Amino acid sequence: MAEQVLAAVRTGAHRTELREYPMPELPEEGALLKMEVAGICGTDVKLYAKPPSDAPVIMGHENIGTIVKASRRFVERKGVKEGDLVFVEHYVPCFQCEWCHQGEYRLCAATDWRRNPDAVRYGYTSAERAPHLWGGFAQYMFLPWNAVLHKVPKGVTPERAGIVTPMANGIQWALLDCGVGYNSTVLVQGPGQQGLSQTVACKQAGASLIIVTGTKRDAARLDVARQLGADHVIDVDAEDPLERIMAITGGKGVDVALDCTAGAGTTPVLLGLDALKRKGGTLLVQGEVAAFPDFPLAKLTNKYVTVKSARGHNYRSCELALQQLASDRFPLDLITTHRFGLKDVDKAIKAVGGSEGVIHVSLLPWE
Ligand SMILES: [Zn+2]
Ligand SMILES: [Zn+2]
Repeated sequence: MAEQVLAAVRTGAHRTELREYPMPELPEEGALLKMEVAGICGTDVKLYAKPPSDAPVIMGHENIGTIVKASRRFVERKGVKEGDLVFVEHYVPCFQCEWCHQGEYRLCAATDWRRNPDAVRYGYTSAERAPHLWGGFAQYMFLPWNAVLHKVPKGVTPERAGIVTPMANGIQWALLDCGVGYNSTVLVQGPGQQGLSQTVACKQAGASLIIVTGTKRDAARLDVARQLGADHVIDVDAEDPLERIMAITGGKGVDVALDCTAGAGTTPVLLGLDALKRKGGTLLVQGEVAAFPDFPLAKLTNKYVTVKSARGHNYRSCELALQQLASDRFPLDLITTHRFGLKDVDKAIKAVGGSEGVIHVSLLPWE
């Protein structure tokens, strides 16, 4: 095995450098993952434009790889062996708290990078912290005893497995958090990889109506949304989305409105609120805007709306997502549109934030 590991390191806003790190010595309990695919999502676009700290960071938090070296205790604890293809959750949790015992690693204080300076998360943690390999935009990643692994089912290629994170979020947000199920009516705003994954999850769960919105740049993505099960698509630049939603639902509105837009400010929250049924709908929100002047709280309470927060995925939603990827029920290859090598990380992230036609980007660290 090589002595040095090549990694793409974010060194500042919109700046990436290739650097080498020493191949880590394995501790008594640990493993080494040879990276196959790192998925890139809208969070990467944001963190690349405005890094949360000055520390050098190997980005890449949606990671699929092969275990190439594992200590005996790691093998015993994790039930994986060398040669296994796995999905590694980006949370590296404590395994002691109430959340960890429920498989809710996303809520563990040990993974909360916003409030805990020692938090470890793949794709977020400083590369200065030994053994350095804390992100997927590298040839190898280090796995400590408390990494969270899921075996990739047989027959699922690494590239398809690379969309497990948006798919897990789809299952988590739409089904587990917002209760979409048989006969539900759903509005999905934003036809990117996240919105499309919500569409698949809702269709699989039995939603009777799925409406997906996008802008005029999203023509190709809206077409994919239809092929993945959307009953109606709306270009919000070409027509009034609320009027159209009310026409489709016979004036009733929808049970659940999911916000999967990026950089659209307060507009999708207001549309979601208006598009919900008269009483008792559920609104999934992102935390994109720090403040929301003139938020119509009275409308929210008059409509008896439940608000849910888009906040990653738990262990179960990851397992369900992998099963979804193993099924051929949906043409999911329509989502995996672009691939880039390690030296093109900068281009790859910009592609996700950029043009029409790009849905999911796979970073292949060995190309
Ligand atoms: Zn992501
Ligand atoms: Zn914990």
